Amino acid sequence: MAKTRAPLPQLGPLFDSHCHLTWPVKEDTTEERIARARDAGIARMISVAVDLNTAEDARQLAKQHADIFPTVGIHPTDVPHGEQLEQDLYALHELAGEQDWVAIGESGLDLFHQRSDLQDQKRSLEVHLELSAQHQLPIILHCRDAIDELLPVLRAAGSVQGVMHCYSEAAAPVEELLGLGLHISFAGNLTYPKSEQLRQAAQEVPMDRILVETDAPFLAPQARRGKRNEPAFVAFTAAFLAELKGLAGEELAAQTFANGCRLFGLPTEA
Ligand SMILES: [Zn+2]
Repeated sequence: MAKTRAPLPQLGPLFDSHCHLTWPVKEDTTEERIARARDAGIARMISVAVDLNTAEDARQLAKQHADIFPTVGIHPTDVPHGEQLEQDLYALHELAGEQDWVAIGESGLDLFHQRSDLQDQKRSLEVHLELSAQHQLPIILHCRDAIDELLPVLRAAGSVQGVMHCYSEAAAPVEELLGLGLHISFAGNLTYPKSEQLRQAAQEVPMDRILVETDAPFLAPQARRGKRNEPAFVAFTAAFLAELKGLAGEELAAQTFANGCRLFGLPTEA
C-alpha cells in the first residue's frame, strides 16, 4: 500500500530565495517543476548560479518567466585554481556589470567538500563581495564547515548586503551576521529531526530578516525526504518555520515574501 504523504500546505504567495532551476534532473523537466511551483503558490524564485555557464542558463530561463530571477557567481566548491581562477574572476567581473542579475553568488566558503583550495575560495569570495558592493546587488553566501573562516572575511568587508543561504550553523553566529546586515535563509534541513541547533538559530532571527528557500534539487524537507527537491516544497519549510515562530503559516509566508522582494529589489505585486 502506498504511504500517505502530507499534502503541500497552501499559504498564499511564497518566495523561494534559493533554487537551482537549471540543474539537470532526470525525473522531469524544468518547465514541469515551474508549473508545480506556481500551483503551490510560489510566486518568486531566485535561480542561483554556481558558475558562469549556469548564470547564463538562469538568465535565459528568467527571460521566459516573469517569476524567475537570475544570479551570477561561482560556487565555492567550483572555484578553479591558478590562471583559470583569474580568467574566471575577470569574466565574472565583466558579466556582473550587465543588467539582468538580482544578486551576486552563490559564493562563500566550503571546507566540507574539499574540492577547492581555501585560499582560492577566499580570493573568489572577496571579488564577489566587491561586485556586490559595486553594483549594489545582494550577495548570496554559502557556508559549510567554514564559519570561523568566513566571519573574518565578512568583518573585513564591514557591512554586507545579502543573505546567508541554507543556514546550517548553531545560534551563536546569528547576532554577528545580522549586525553585518545579512538576512538568514532556512532550507529543508530545518525540518529534519536532528536539526535542533538549527531551530534554536531560527528563533534568534527577527521576522524582518528571515527568508525561506529550497536549494532545489537538493535537500528536500522532511515531508518529502528522499525525493528530488523542487521549489513547490518551500511551502513545507515555510509552514514548519511558522509553527516554530508561533505564527500563522499565511503570516510567515507574507513576511518572507516581503523580505525577499525588498532584499532582491523585486516588485511585491505580481
Ligand atoms: Zn545553492
